[in-house]
Order: sequence, then C-alpha cells, then structure tokens
Amino acid sequence: MSTALYYDDPFLRTFEATVTARRGDEVALDRTAFYPTGGGQPCDTGTLNGIPVLAVEKDDEGRIWHRLAAPLEADRVRGEIDWARRFDHMQQHTGQHLLSAVFHHLLHGETVGFHLGERIVTIDLDLPRLTREAAMRVEQEVNHLVWEDLPVEARFVSDEELARLKLRRAPKVAAPIRIVTIGDYDATPCGGTHLLRTGQIGPVKLTAIERYKGGVRVTFLCGQRAMDDYRRLHETTRDIALRLTTAIDDLPATIDRLREENKALHREVRRLRLEAMEHEAPRLWESAPAIDGIKTIVGHRADSDLESLRRLAAILRTYPRTLILLATTEAKGCRYLAARSDDLPFDAAALLREALAPLGGRGGGSVQMAQGGGPPRDAATVEAALREAVRHHLDQASQHKEEA
Ligand SMILES: [Zn+2]
Repeated sequence: MSTALYYDDPFLRTFEATVTARRGDEVALDRTAFYPTGGGQPCDTGTLNGIPVLAVEKDDEGRIWHRLAAPLEADRVRGEIDWARRFDHMQQHTGQHLLSAVFHHLLHGETVGFHLGERIVTIDLDLPRLTREAAMRVEQEVNHLVWEDLPVEARFVSDEELARLKLRRAPKVAAPIRIVTIGDYDATPCGGTHLLRTGQIGPVKLTAIERYKGGVRVTFLCGQRAMDDYRRLHETTRDIALRLTTAIDDLPATIDRLREENKALHREVRRLRLEAMEHEAPRLWESAPAIDGIKTIVGHRADSDLESLRRLAAILRTYPRTLILLATTEAKGCRYLAARSDDLPFDAAALLREALAPLGGRGGGSVQMAQGGGPPRDAATVEAALREAVRHHLDQASQHKEEA
C-alpha cells in the first residue's frame, strides 16, 4: 500500500520515495504526492527523477502505480508533480463542491454526475429544468461564498462522527470515509484533492445549461480557466467592435442594422440578376451553336443561382428548337437545370439525370424542365459532364431519326 501524501498536504509539490514494485513501464512507490485518477478528477502528471510520469492509477490493494515515459533504474526517487495542472484540477474540483452545495441549498438540486476534462467541466443535476435566472442566482451565490474565503477541510472520520454529520450525499465507498467540509456550508464524502480556502477557487462562471438524461447538465469554469475565458471573450468582443467601428455596448444594434442592410442588398442583387437575364437571353441564344438545327445552350455559370437559371431557361425555351442544360455553384453545392422548347421531343428530366450521374447529383422534373443538385464540383468538370450528356442525347435522337 502506498502512503497518499496528497491527502495530508494537497499543496505538496515535491517528495522523496522508494520504489516498492515494478511492472512493465510502471513503478509503485511507498509514498507519493501523485494523485491517481478517481472520483471524477484526472490524475497528476510530473516527473520521477526527471522522467515524465504519464498516468497514475491506484490498484485494489491500495498501491499507486506511476506509468513512466522511459525506464527508471534507481530505487530511490525524487518526485515532482506538474503544479499548474494540479492547481487547475483543485480549482475546478473545489469549485464543483461549492457549486453543487449551492444548487443543493438554493434549488434542492442534487449533483448526480461530475466530469473534469482538459477544457470542459460539467455537473449533472437531478433538476427537471433550470432557468437562466435561477442559474445566475446560483452563480452569484457561489462567487459570494468564494469572497467569504471559507476554510475547506478534508479528514477521515470515525463511524460515530459519520453518523452525526449531515452529509449532502451518502458515501459511495466503504470505511475509512473521508469528508470534505466547506465552513459550515457543506459536508460531503470525497477522496480528491482540494484547495484550503474557497478564495483560492477564484471566479466561478456558468457557461452552458442543457437538458441531459432527464435532468440538467451545467458547464462551468473556475479560477484560471474562468479568467482565460473572460480574457478570450473580451478580446474577441473588442476585436469585433473594432472591425465594425462601434462600441462593445452598441454591437447588437450595429449587427441588426448590418443584417437589415445585407437583406436589402440581397433582394436588390436578386432583382438585378433576374433583370439581367431578360437582356442576356436573346444574346445567348444568338451566339449558341446549332447542332442538327438545334440551339444548344450548355455550361456552368459562375455568379449565378438556381433562381436566375430558372428565369433564363424559362425565357430561352420560348425560342424555337432550343435545348438548355445549365449549372451554377451555390453555398451548399452545385445546382443544375435542364429545359427544352416545346417543339423538341427530348425529355429534360432524363437529360438532367444523365448529366448528373457522373457528378454525383440528383434531380427531377417534367419533360420540359427539370432541376437538381449535387456536391461541389469545379466548373470544368461540370461543363465536361453537361456537354457529354447533351452530345449523347443528340446522337441518340439522330439515330432514332435514321432508324425511322
Ligand atoms: Zn472533492
């Protein structure tokens, strides 16, 4: 069994110990300040005699195993834990105790899950719902308790004392039971590492509330993580305000105005595009090649959209003996349109399907006009596929004519 130095002194950063067992790339020590993964708190990392410790686990016999990045020959070791990582874990974990206690006191919400990740920290509560207002009350109360700088104490207790204590939740492990108290405000069983006073937690910020498994999941940040997040958000907001040449407080109104302007511009572009089609159609028809006396208007058009293609095709198909197969690229991918004048026997939907097959697209419509869409393709690939489909269609038509 390894003596867990982190229980007596969670602020111990370096220690000396003796190797008591080895297996593969792991060593067990007679005493250690390395906290092993458990109770929702990730393990410590650091070094033993300068060799990086990658992971720490406790086995059923109470031995604490340190997985090393390289072989360790010595039997006596000097250990040093990664203090920034440990302190971060203690800020998040102690903050979680306080947050869970406030949810218990203010809303009778019990914590049923806790996750401390590299970036995200969450608790799961058995509350059916949590309004923003209630969450902000909890957040405010947690920060008040941080400012009160209450003592945080952890100790193993006897069965008699355990029976007397009013615990927020029942122990999940057998004796000896370790109790963590925050002033007179909270007492709960826990085997993790904690700060000594609530003031060390620093600011506590709730960042997300979502429904989760019939309850509520709350994401939050404590201490340095909250500070980093505040700095990042502040810089991002400041940067956006600078780009929009406005004050941070005026951002919502400025963005609303820009969105309105943008909508109006879109409407105007659409109107102009459609108007342009009226002028372009006759010119396009005149310059289109005639194959077997059929005007074929084929190609990919940049700076267009499906609506404009539809308008263009609707005009073009009023001309005699005209076959149209057009494409454009919109935000989500390529859009396609096939059409023909009423005096031609072709099936526009069949022509479209044939053109789309090699492009991975799908579509349908009537024999006069059909439309479809597909994944993004470059203009040259699209053009080649459209021309091939038209050529094949016209070949087939002339064959039918010869056979007849
Ligand atoms: Zn704890």
